[in-house]
Amino acid sequence: MTRIAVGGFLHETNTFAPTKATYDDFVHGGGWPSMAHGADMLKVMRKINVGLAGFVEAAEANGWELIPTISCGASPSAHVTEDAFERIVKKMIDGIASAGPLDAVYLDLHGAMVTEHLDDGEGEILARARKVIGKDVPLVASLDLHANVTPEMVEHADALIAYRTYPHVDMADTGRASARHLALLLGTRQRFAKAFRQLPFLIPISWQCTNDQPTRGIYEKLAAMESDAVPTLSFAPGFPAADFEHCGPSVFAYGRTQADADAAADKLAALITGHEDDFDGRIYSPDDGVRHAMELAKTATRPIIIADTQDNPGAGGDSDTTGMLRALVRNNATRAATGVIYDPQSAKAAHAAGVGATVTLALGGKSGIPGDAPYKETFVVEQLSDGKFVAPGPYYGGRDMDMGPSACLRIGDVRVVVSSHKAQLADQAMYRYVGIEPTKQAVLVNKSSVHFRADFEPIAEKLLICAAPGAMPADTASLPWTKLRPGIRIKPNGPAFAPVNTSRSTG
Ligand SMILES: [Zn+2]
Repeated sequence: MTRIAVGGFLHETNTFAPTKATYDDFVHGGGWPSMAHGADMLKVMRKINVGLAGFVEAAEANGWELIPTISCGASPSAHVTEDAFERIVKKMIDGIASAGPLDAVYLDLHGAMVTEHLDDGEGEILARARKVIGKDVPLVASLDLHANVTPEMVEHADALIAYRTYPHVDMADTGRASARHLALLLGTRQRFAKAFRQLPFLIPISWQCTNDQPTRGIYEKLAAMESDAVPTLSFAPGFPAADFEHCGPSVFAYGRTQADADAAADKLAALITGHEDDFDGRIYSPDDGVRHAMELAKTATRPIIIADTQDNPGAGGDSDTTGMLRALVRNNATRAATGVIYDPQSAKAAHAAGVGATVTLALGGKSGIPGDAPYKETFVVEQLSDGKFVAPGPYYGGRDMDMGPSACLRIGDVRVVVSSHKAQLADQAMYRYVGIEPTKQAVLVNKSSVHFRADFEPIAEKLLICAAPGAMPADTASLPWTKLRPGIRIKPNGPAFAPVNTSRSTG
């Protein structure tokens, strides 16, 4: 019987963000399933939109025996603590080492993890896994579309396979694709040649969305380029908020021959760099965005939906900035709702006061983002929730959510979802669980950049993007980069990064 060790460890690290990811954050999971060990993993990883769940389903259909180690993820944030990384990776690597004879290893990784002690978290995980299995056992990993892929990751894995959608509605599909590639490796005993190309400019996440051009067309062409000669080809636009040498977009190809892999990687890289001018679009100020949305809402039959893109907890924000809420109230928005503001203290105060009560709070604004502060106002508590519900939309794909004690607070005709745990507002259920019907609102402001579009585009009249203070600048050129590759353009057609000469500053 084919025996395969499996594990998952997911984190997207914004090195400029305010809060680190601790071991407890991985135990809870944020928007991911909570940490699972050994056989429990295979109970959790069922029929949900996660890479490991798709792999498990395909592996069982193939009749493979799985040896589970550990699976966990945490909300994107600043660095993973050394303690969290070492405890989780030890469990994963010990599990692989003690699994007995193995035919392969599959890992569900993100690809943009930076820890307190390592710039390239996944490069280190794959190196340690390779060390215990030796050079002959296939090692395959699925990656997020936001992976900042490094030469070390490519070196230690037999194949890396990235998602192709943003919103990531194909996480489980990518696990299935990994199983297909692994079946090829096991069936032929052949190793594919690898080609890896890093691209010369950072791509802001708003323009990575695969519902829009140019990214949509790039992935359609990518899929058409796969063949018997090049069975697996990936484009990872990268996560442009991790300050290290290998931050940025890349392509990676696996071919029957080196020439096959090189030709596919070069062709795909040229296709993407040829679109440099097209990774661009309109970003509104909070006031301009709210006023424009209210104007559109006068004749709209469905909600105008604003992405509060810079406080996206899916990109390292704390989901607690108040700039968009202030703009809604300041402009007297009506039938407006926003969420989710992560603020356990305010949620607790609302629960203590009870439904119908009036509470004066310093809401949100606790992460210390420059230009932001707690919003001191009086709110009506409209509804309370224990925060437990299912998110059935295509992004979370039926995952059990745990937002902790939560409330709907109202100020004027603006309703605010307040929670005690952080997760990206990417499902209509994240309004409904506190009694807000999103389809009945004129204006919705979602703390998300792109993932919300999977569940909200079908109910939206129009989508707008606003830049209120937050940890994930919409303009990648505005970040204080210090460690990028010399010469990479810090946005499409932007200036090239040049390292500051630090040798002089000490003199
Ligand atoms: Zn992602």
